[in-house]
Amino acid sequence: MTEVVYKKLAEALNARSMTYPSVPCDEFYAFAREIFTPEQAEIASNMPLNGATSEELAVVMKGAHAGHLEKQLEDMARGGTVRVKEENGKRSYELLPLVPGIIELQFMHGGVDERTKRLARLMKSYGKALKNTMMTTLAQMPVAGTSRARTIGVERDISGQPTILAYDEVMKLIDTAEYIAAGVCVCRHQGDLLDRPCDKPKNDKCMILGPSARFADDHGFVHLISRDEAKQSIDEAEAAGLVHVYANSQDRFIDLLCACCGCHCFMLRGVSRSPSPSRAVLARWVITVDDEACSGCGACLDRCWMQALHMEGDLAVRDVERCIGCGICMYVCPSDAMRLVRRETAPVKS
Ligand code: SF4
Ligand code: SF4
Repeated sequence: MTEVVYKKLAEALNARSMTYPSVPCDEFYAFAREIFTPEQAEIASNMPLNGATSEELAVVMKGAHAGHLEKQLEDMARGGTVRVKEENGKRSYELLPLVPGIIELQFMHGGVDERTKRLARLMKSYGKALKNTMMTTLAQMPVAGTSRARTIGVERDISGQPTILAYDEVMKLIDTAEYIAAGVCVCRHQGDLLDRPCDKPKNDKCMILGPSARFADDHGFVHLISRDEAKQSIDEAEAAGLVHVYANSQDRFIDLLCACCGCHCFMLRGVSRSPSPSRAVLARWVITVDDEACSGCGACLDRCWMQALHMEGDLAVRDVERCIGCGICMYVCPSDAMRLVRRETAPVKS
């Protein structure tokens, strides 16, 4: 019986974002039970996409008492599964997507308590169960058309799609964000909790932008930071060779900016395993190397999470199929020999 409730919950979460799908299976049920009681799962699966007050939800859930629902919804907000909006003294509630949303709020606070450790283990189990499904999906993706991620260009209207950004685009996002809140990187924190630490920085490397930043700060999941602090953190991420990934939910419930490593980030790890990462992310930009300027130092090779660069004699050469156009390699080139260019105008060689 309870499985039916959590199956409906999976459908409700997928309706908000498929960035990290909720696939009904034993591992998903175990994870979902840790963050939703059966009653909360039932409430979540009845919530309208654009949110509802407790009174409106009571109408949807015939026979439910608005006062009781209000209490449950406030508990869910404290648990990081729904977001609260307040207008004209009325509180309304929106179910958050699994990613970006619920999972981030379970880990961005950086807690090392037993429950957070248990959640990390459950997430790992679910991630394993999901991996084969995701890899099958990536392998079956068409050569052209829409994809799960895009490179460069701050296309904030691409609902629910992760976007890999270059440095300049990240700075534009920061300049236009109403609020910015920072927390611990979810993937690297999970690595620490599971005794699989990452040597890349994790503090303040995941950020929530816009109105959701205030909600997440109010509930203690993250903390508000200034634009200057955000830019400093992004500079640190750039220096550490982290890829900037932006994701939002279908109704922009939550805008998330992460600095991802290729060793712990679920999405980047999956993309790097693809035989053609550029097709998995619909890369619109690609790196080029100026043969005249390249000194053959090889420094760029170690920065690339996609193994898109190799040496031919004294020259760095990029694999156009593997390059996702993140620009992380450019940071270490001592000869200013690398440029990002639009994929369709890129020269065939290098
Ligand atoms: S070659 Fe450079 S731009 Fe392309 S994926 Fe590797 S690090 Fe990113
Ligand atoms: S870092 Fe620059 S100079 Fe060194 S191999 Fe790469 S492209 Fe050439």
